[in-house]
Amino acid sequence: MIPYALIGIILFLILLLVAIHIGVNKKETSAEEEGEARPVIHQSGIYSIVRKSPRESIDDIKPPIEEIRKYLGGQNEDIYGAPLNDQDRELIIRQWQHHLETNLSEIEEGDKEGVEFYYFDFANQDQICAQNISKGQFVTREQIFKYPKIIPPFHLGCQCFLKRYRGDENLRETTVVGMQSFFDEKHFPEIPKWQDIDLSAKDST
Ligand SMILES: [Zn+2]
Repeated sequence: MIPYALIGIILFLILLLVAIHIGVNKKETSAEEEGEARPVIHQSGIYSIVRKSPRESIDDIKPPIEEIRKYLGGQNEDIYGAPLNDQDRELIIRQWQHHLETNLSEIEEGDKEGVEFYYFDFANQDQICAQNISKGQFVTREQIFKYPKIIPPFHLGCQCFLKRYRGDENLRETTVVGMQSFFDEKHFPEIPKWQDIDLSAKDST
Protein backbone atom coordinates (compact mmCIF):
# COMPACT_ATOMS: atom_id res chain seq x y z
CA MET A 1 0.00 0.00 0.00
CA ILE A 2 2.78 2.40 0.94
CA PRO A 3 4.42 2.57 -2.52
CA TYR A 4 1.01 3.29 -4.10
CA ALA A 5 0.41 6.13 -1.67
CA LEU A 6 3.86 7.49 -2.47
CA ILE A 7 3.25 7.30 -6.21
CA GLY A 8 -0.04 9.08 -5.64
CA ILE A 9 1.64 11.91 -3.75
CA ILE A 10 4.38 12.23 -6.39
CA LEU A 11 1.79 12.36 -9.18
CA PHE A 12 -0.16 14.97 -7.28
CA LEU A 13 2.98 17.08 -6.80
CA ILE A 14 3.84 16.82 -10.52
CA LEU A 15 0.32 17.91 -11.48
CA LEU A 16 0.54 20.78 -9.03
CA LEU A 17 3.85 21.94 -10.53
CA VAL A 18 2.43 21.74 -14.07
CA ALA A 19 -0.61 23.76 -13.00
CA ILE A 20 1.57 26.43 -11.40
CA HIS A 21 3.76 26.54 -14.50
CA ILE A 22 0.76 27.04 -16.82
CA GLY A 23 -0.58 29.75 -14.53
CA VAL A 24 2.71 31.66 -14.61
CA ASN A 25 2.98 31.43 -18.41
CA LYS A 26 -0.56 32.66 -18.86
CA LYS A 27 0.11 35.67 -16.68
CA GLU A 28 3.22 36.56 -18.67
CA THR A 29 1.38 36.33 -22.00
CA SER A 30 -1.49 38.56 -20.98
CA ALA A 31 0.92 41.14 -19.59
CA GLU A 32 2.75 41.10 -22.92
CA GLU A 33 -0.45 41.54 -24.90
CA GLU A 34 -1.37 44.62 -22.95
CA GLY A 35 2.22 45.77 -23.00
CA GLU A 36 2.04 47.63 -26.32
CA ALA A 37 1.00 50.87 -24.70
CA ARG A 38 0.58 50.57 -21.00
CA PRO A 39 0.33 53.59 -18.80
CA VAL A 40 3.30 54.12 -16.54
CA ILE A 41 3.39 55.44 -13.03
CA HIS A 42 4.78 58.91 -12.80
CA GLN A 43 7.11 59.76 -10.01
CA SER A 44 4.24 61.33 -8.15
CA GLY A 45 2.71 57.87 -7.94
CA ILE A 46 -0.39 58.91 -9.86
CA TYR A 47 -1.38 56.69 -12.77
CA SER A 48 -1.17 58.79 -15.84
CA ILE A 49 -0.74 58.23 -19.53
CA VAL A 50 2.63 58.84 -21.03
CA ARG A 51 2.57 62.27 -22.57
CA LYS A 52 5.16 61.30 -25.05
CA SER A 53 5.06 63.18 -28.31
CA PRO A 54 3.51 61.04 -31.06
CA ARG A 55 6.16 62.54 -33.33
CA GLU A 56 8.52 59.71 -32.39
CA SER A 57 6.20 56.97 -33.61
CA ILE A 58 4.61 58.78 -36.53
CA ASP A 59 7.10 57.43 -39.07
CA ASP A 60 5.82 53.93 -38.40
CA ILE A 61 2.26 54.98 -39.11
CA LYS A 62 2.35 57.47 -41.97
CA PRO A 63 3.88 56.66 -45.35
CA PRO A 64 7.25 58.30 -46.05
CA ILE A 65 7.13 61.36 -48.33
CA GLU A 66 9.11 59.51 -51.01
CA GLU A 67 6.44 56.80 -51.10
CA ILE A 68 3.71 59.42 -51.42
CA ARG A 69 5.60 61.19 -54.20
CA LYS A 70 6.09 57.93 -56.07
CA TYR A 71 2.44 56.99 -55.66
CA LEU A 72 1.19 60.40 -56.80
CA GLY A 73 3.47 60.21 -59.84
CA GLY A 74 1.43 57.25 -61.05
CA GLN A 75 -1.96 58.90 -60.49
CA ASN A 76 -3.62 61.14 -63.04
CA GLU A 77 -6.84 62.05 -61.22
CA ASP A 78 -8.38 62.20 -57.77
CA ILE A 79 -11.20 59.92 -56.59
CA TYR A 80 -13.75 62.25 -58.20
CA GLY A 81 -12.00 62.22 -61.56
CA ALA A 82 -10.49 65.71 -61.27
CA PRO A 83 -7.21 65.73 -63.24
CA LEU A 84 -3.91 65.95 -61.34
CA ASN A 85 -1.00 67.97 -62.64
CA ASP A 86 2.48 68.31 -61.21
CA GLN A 87 1.53 71.46 -59.34
CA ASP A 88 -1.34 69.62 -57.66
CA ARG A 89 0.95 66.74 -56.72
CA GLU A 90 3.41 69.11 -55.07
CA LEU A 91 0.59 70.94 -53.31
CA ILE A 92 -0.79 67.66 -51.95
CA ILE A 93 2.65 66.69 -50.61
CA ARG A 94 3.23 70.13 -49.07
CA GLN A 95 -0.19 70.05 -47.42
CA TRP A 96 0.37 66.56 -46.10
CA GLN A 97 3.59 67.64 -44.38
CA HIS A 98 2.10 70.88 -43.13
CA HIS A 99 -1.08 69.30 -41.79
CA LEU A 100 0.78 66.46 -40.10
CA GLU A 101 3.05 69.00 -38.42
CA THR A 102 0.02 71.08 -37.36
CA ASN A 103 -1.63 68.06 -35.74
CA LEU A 104 1.54 66.92 -33.97
CA SER A 105 2.13 70.42 -32.62
CA GLU A 106 -1.47 70.63 -31.44
CA ILE A 107 -0.98 67.48 -29.35
CA GLU A 108 2.38 68.68 -28.02
CA GLU A 109 0.87 72.03 -27.05
CA GLY A 110 -2.09 70.22 -25.50
CA ASP A 111 0.28 68.13 -23.40
CA LYS A 112 1.76 71.26 -21.92
CA GLU A 113 -1.73 72.22 -20.79
CA GLY A 114 -2.71 68.72 -19.66
CA VAL A 115 -5.47 68.44 -22.28
CA GLU A 116 -7.35 65.13 -22.08
CA PHE A 117 -9.77 65.45 -25.01
CA TYR A 118 -9.31 66.30 -28.68
CA TYR A 119 -11.98 66.58 -31.34
CA PHE A 120 -11.95 66.27 -35.10
CA ASP A 121 -12.65 69.24 -37.26
CA PHE A 122 -12.37 69.45 -41.03
CA ALA A 123 -13.28 71.53 -44.03
CA ASN A 124 -16.72 70.83 -45.45
CA GLN A 125 -15.15 69.88 -48.75
CA ASP A 126 -13.32 66.95 -47.16
CA GLN A 127 -15.88 64.38 -48.25
CA ILE A 128 -13.58 61.42 -47.70
CA CYS A 129 -13.30 62.14 -43.99
CA ALA A 130 -16.96 63.09 -43.77
CA GLN A 131 -17.84 59.50 -44.68
CA ASN A 132 -16.04 58.14 -41.62
CA ILE A 133 -15.87 60.93 -39.09
CA SER A 134 -18.37 63.41 -37.76
CA LYS A 135 -17.11 66.85 -36.90
CA GLY A 136 -16.77 67.23 -33.17
CA GLN A 137 -16.27 63.54 -32.48
CA PHE A 138 -13.69 63.33 -29.75
CA VAL A 139 -10.80 61.07 -28.80
CA THR A 140 -8.95 61.00 -25.51
CA ARG A 141 -5.25 61.67 -25.13
CA GLU A 142 -4.86 58.05 -24.04
CA GLN A 143 -6.50 56.84 -27.26
CA ILE A 144 -4.07 58.98 -29.28
CA PHE A 145 -1.24 57.43 -27.29
CA LYS A 146 -2.50 53.90 -27.86
CA TYR A 147 -3.58 54.37 -31.48
CA PRO A 148 -1.49 57.13 -33.07
CA LYS A 149 -3.00 56.24 -36.44
CA ILE A 150 -6.03 58.33 -35.45
CA ILE A 151 -3.88 61.42 -36.01
CA PRO A 152 -4.78 63.16 -39.28
CA PRO A 153 -4.04 63.68 -42.16
CA PHE A 154 -5.64 60.40 -43.15
CA HIS A 155 -5.51 60.62 -46.93
CA LEU A 156 -3.98 62.74 -49.66
CA GLY A 157 -5.68 66.12 -49.73
CA CYS A 158 -7.03 65.59 -46.21
CA GLN A 159 -8.31 68.69 -44.42
CA CYS A 160 -8.99 67.03 -41.08
CA PHE A 161 -7.44 68.30 -37.85
CA LEU A 162 -7.37 67.28 -34.23
CA LYS A 163 -8.14 70.20 -31.96
CA ARG A 164 -7.61 70.57 -28.26
CA TYR A 165 -10.86 70.48 -26.33
CA ARG A 166 -10.61 72.90 -23.46
CA GLY A 167 -14.16 72.50 -22.30
CA ASP A 168 -15.49 75.92 -23.19
CA GLU A 169 -16.06 75.34 -26.92
CA ASN A 170 -19.70 75.02 -27.80
CA LEU A 171 -19.36 72.21 -30.30
CA ARG A 172 -23.09 71.84 -30.74
CA GLU A 173 -23.28 75.11 -32.57
CA THR A 174 -20.35 74.57 -34.85
CA THR A 175 -20.52 70.87 -35.55
CA VAL A 176 -22.94 68.19 -36.55
CA VAL A 177 -23.01 65.99 -33.46
CA GLY A 178 -21.54 67.84 -30.54
CA MET A 179 -19.34 65.75 -28.27
CA GLN A 180 -19.51 62.13 -29.27
CA SER A 181 -16.78 59.51 -28.93
CA PHE A 182 -14.94 58.50 -32.09
CA PHE A 183 -14.52 55.00 -30.66
CA ASP A 184 -17.47 52.80 -29.92
CA GLU A 185 -17.07 49.83 -27.64
CA LYS A 186 -17.03 47.12 -30.28
CA HIS A 187 -15.20 48.37 -33.35
CA PHE A 188 -12.05 50.21 -34.17
CA PRO A 189 -13.30 53.21 -36.16
CA GLU A 190 -12.87 53.25 -39.93
CA ILE A 191 -10.03 55.46 -41.08
CA PRO A 192 -9.66 56.53 -44.73
CA LYS A 193 -6.87 54.97 -46.79
CA TRP A 194 -3.95 57.33 -47.33
CA GLN A 195 -3.99 56.52 -51.05
CA ASP A 196 -7.37 58.19 -51.55
CA ILE A 197 -6.76 61.52 -53.25
CA ASP A 198 -9.16 64.42 -52.86
CA LEU A 199 -8.20 67.54 -54.70
CA SER A 200 -11.44 69.39 -54.01
CA ALA A 201 -10.39 70.41 -50.52
CA LYS A 202 -7.15 72.06 -51.50
CA ASP A 203 -6.35 75.27 -49.70
CA SER A 204 -3.52 77.76 -50.00
CA THR A 205 -1.26 76.30 -47.28
ZN1 LIG B 1 -9.67 63.99 -44.69
